[in-house]
Amino acid sequence: MSRIDPQTIDQIKQIADVAEVIGDYVSLKKKGANLWACCPFHGEKSPSFSVSPAKGIYKCFGCGKAGDSVRFVMDIEGIGYPEALRQLAKKYGIEIPEAEYTDEQMEAQNERESLFLVLNFAKNYFQNYLFDSEEGQNIGLTYFKERGFNENTIKNFELGYSPKIWDGFTKAALEAGYSLPILEKAGLTIIKREEDQTTKEKVYDRFRERVIFPIHNVAGKVIAFGGRILKADKNQPKYVNSPETEVYHKSNVLYGIYQAKNAIRTNDMAYLCEGYTDVVSLHQAGIHNVVASSGTSLTHEQIKLISRFTQNITVLYDGDSAGIKASLRGMDMILEEGLDVKLAIFPEGEDPDSYVQKIGSEAFINYLKNNASDFITYKAQLSIDEAGNDPSKKANVIREMVESISKIPDSIKRSLFLQKTAQMMGVAEEILIIESNKYLIQKQQVKEKEYKKPSGPNLENPDFGGLQSFDEESPFEQAQVETKPHYDNIFYQEQECIRLILNHGKQIPDPAQAPDYMLANYILDEITDVEFITPIYKSILDEIRVLFENNQEITAEQFHNSANEAIRNEVISLSFEKYTLSENWSKLHEIFVPTEVDKLSELAYTNILRLKKAHNQKNMNEFKQKLATETDTTEQEKLLGFFMNAKLIEKEISKLLGTVVLK
Ligand SMILES: [Zn+2]
Repeated sequence: MSRIDPQTIDQIKQIADVAEVIGDYVSLKKKGANLWACCPFHGEKSPSFSVSPAKGIYKCFGCGKAGDSVRFVMDIEGIGYPEALRQLAKKYGIEIPEAEYTDEQMEAQNERESLFLVLNFAKNYFQNYLFDSEEGQNIGLTYFKERGFNENTIKNFELGYSPKIWDGFTKAALEAGYSLPILEKAGLTIIKREEDQTTKEKVYDRFRERVIFPIHNVAGKVIAFGGRILKADKNQPKYVNSPETEVYHKSNVLYGIYQAKNAIRTNDMAYLCEGYTDVVSLHQAGIHNVVASSGTSLTHEQIKLISRFTQNITVLYDGDSAGIKASLRGMDMILEEGLDVKLAIFPEGEDPDSYVQKIGSEAFINYLKNNASDFITYKAQLSIDEAGNDPSKKANVIREMVESISKIPDSIKRSLFLQKTAQMMGVAEEILIIESNKYLIQKQQVKEKEYKKPSGPNLENPDFGGLQSFDEESPFEQAQVETKPHYDNIFYQEQECIRLILNHGKQIPDPAQAPDYMLANYILDEITDVEFITPIYKSILDEIRVLFENNQEITAEQFHNSANEAIRNEVISLSFEKYTLSENWSKLHEIFVPTEVDKLSELAYTNILRLKKAHNQKNMNEFKQKLATETDTTEQEKLLGFFMNAKLIEKEISKLLGTVVLK
């Protein structure tokens, strides 16, 4: 695989019509200027997933996913940027010419490619050994059959067997033309070098005398292996896994994700279990939406991987409570990522694999339905049992519970869980809310330190505490609640400023007087002395200023595929909102509403003034606060001087604003 040249990328993006690409996955209905569907990324019954063919973008007002056609393919298929481009190129019959490489790029590219090739060679080798050799059939195939795996399943998961030979695989691979360094880098061959460097190095296979479970990435390529030994040998670990390599980072990988991703999306649920055999067994039983975090304890990357396909995880655990206690942290992590997590525990001595084979898939699914409890309820119950009547233990338990709940990003869910926990624990809900608020404020303060954001925690912020109500009819408000937690004036003016630059920056406000002077130039020239304080808008403005300094075009499209998800989503939200609203408004009331373009100059002018006024107001407040505690008289005078100056500026700006009349 090689790099795609920029011209071809542009060509693909231009041809890949967003409605057509998305239409391959969901059925879109026209409503107003946009197309709507039930979101393929989160479960919902009424459509809040909107596509704007005119702008080439989509946005879900429920879960916030947004992007252009390439991003959609990346997210829905769970593949990377170059793979998505290739897929679209294929769909539209665009040929991708080979780009010129530097030697270094060539080498890096070739090495990754070689790793994939040799891993695939190894997979075939292990598979052939399983089916075609006596040892493979007698030991490997017999074992899989004893576990109840049929041939279809074995082939679907590309299971294999590595023979009882020290270097059988390595020899075969060398004969096939793969180099020893690549075999070592792929984690397939171990080279032991003697300490004195004189004697010859010893070369042997990592996987020997084991049944083999290939590990695939989301796109279906083999990136690693897990090997299980069958005989009882105290000197050998039960499982041997590939080490970390250029193409395998175990914390980013889930076993079975390639085979499960479509089922996870259609069922809007992922079952998470512990071992390879659980995944294979459940899959054979017709439960396809199942993955395992095999080889590591659950990581944030793994949760993010699942969240590309669903927001719901049910964790399936064996019936021993030691394992469950250890896994509680993993579930806190799932909550933190904003996903819903349930927990199902099996009767003692059973694991998902054994249990599904025992009772069959239908009964198994029913068991999960009836026995999966939400994680918070489960944790509360577990903790209550443990603490008994000991008051200090109980207090600790409550604190732990509240900490877990406070990690849930959604305030509605949070308050419901607090309510439930209060009931279960027999304490007043208010106490839990106060505890939770303490935790949230602490978290917010840490965040603010990270951002170096000057304003203190905003307790009126809807993200804190109690229930947040919003109108079901208006997806726009809902989206705003989720993506824009700060409701102060500076926030709005900074937002409006970015929106005007990105959506209308190319317009010429005064073609007669200044035919080359674009709106973006005008705004940027006027605000050179302004530093934004809302982190997201500051980041976007920083990038805009870089583009501006390099004389590059400034458009929203530049950001539609930004690698920074927060920036991408924000820019797309800004392209969507007001615009769509005013169109609906005019249709509904059958009146002429001047479009934004008709009054851009005024909008930009007032925005600049209000922006400056808001920042000035912030400065005034800060001077005032400092004055209140300052004891040194010279400092006091200095502050007073600043304050009076700011007051004058405010007066000037207000005067200017007063003369502006919006049409
Ligand atoms: Zn959604």
